Amino acid sequence: MAVAGALPFMQRMNPEQEQPSVLEPLEDHPKYQKIRDLDKGTFGFVQLAVDLTTGEQVAIKFIERSQEVSKYVEREILNHKRLIHPHIVQLKEVFLTNNHLAIAMEYAAGGNLYQLVARSGGLPEPDARWYFQQLIFAIDYCHKMGVANRDVKLENTLLVSSARPLIKLCDFGYSKDEKFQSAPGSKVGTPAYLAPEVISTTRGRTYNGKAADVWSCGVMLYVMLSAQYPFGRPEDTHLKTARQMHVMLQRILSVDYQLPYNKQVSPECKHLLECILVADPEKRITMADIQRHPWFTRDLPEGVAHMNDQLLAQQQHMMAQYGQ
Ligand code: ATP
Ligand code: MG
Repeated sequence: MAVAGALPFMQRMNPEQEQPSVLEPLEDHPKYQKIRDLDKGTFGFVQLAVDLTTGEQVAIKFIERSQEVSKYVEREILNHKRLIHPHIVQLKEVFLTNNHLAIAMEYAAGGNLYQLVARSGGLPEPDARWYFQQLIFAIDYCHKMGVANRDVKLENTLLVSSARPLIKLCDFGYSKDEKFQSAPGSKVGTPAYLAPEVISTTRGRTYNGKAADVWSCGVMLYVMLSAQYPFGRPEDTHLKTARQMHVMLQRILSVDYQLPYNKQVSPECKHLLECILVADPEKRITMADIQRHPWFTRDLPEGVAHMNDQLLAQQQHMMAQYGQ
């Protein structure tokens, strides 16, 4: 199957690679007790733990402490902390252990969307729409809070089970706040999901991080439907890794993709993909117009369309009351 997580060009580029420590960071911790390891990421490793004061399970991401906190870690914490939304994993607290900076978060027990799509070989269109609707509400909320995510991908989209699985975005390691942080200008993210303007950006030039997120949402929709990357081809696998990467980035720059060959895609879905995967970020569909698109609005649960505006109004009201 073409969704090959092990391929380096599907993993994100990390300018400050670190190796996880072999020490057990929660040993003798007064508040949290380790249950088991969950996963490893580029920036650190994640463990499932129990909060001994409440009995609640939490996921804790550990990042090795260095002389200075990396700007990515700082942004991850500052931006993630402010985002309180049903489709975003909630950050609970940040603390230090001897060797690590630890970020305790709400635990999402259902694995991630990458694993689900890889198992299914591509989701039926109504299921892809269900996850895509939630993804768009999560990203729309981030954007309205002034935060561009810059690493939207299946692996950063976790699942919690309910009558129908719900998604929770995690990982704000590459996020940028338009008010407090400089405009996005660097080539960060995961190559297969990068928008053309991110690939072609040069030193000193900036791009619109929100429009780049819209592109990545389109890549996610394509991958959910087909379990294939739109700009990777099965025949690329015989190429050397560096060549594969080059070929894929060139295809992204010229928006050279075909609809999933292994899947029937409805005309409305095809239209939405065509509106998203547009090279010029100015001509790319906006978040607001995605939410008005007929493919998106189909089977949308009642009342959900206004959820973000209501949440933002409530949160602004709370902030005004408590003077935060
Ligand atoms: P990467 O470079 O791989 O994107 P990272 O080092 O920034 O990652 P995260 O993406 O935040 O780390 O987490 C890595 C993995 O840990 C996730 O893909 C997921 O499988 C698991 N994980 C992270 N947060 C949670 C959580 N709140 N609940 C359950 N699992 C989680
Ligand atoms: Mg991640």
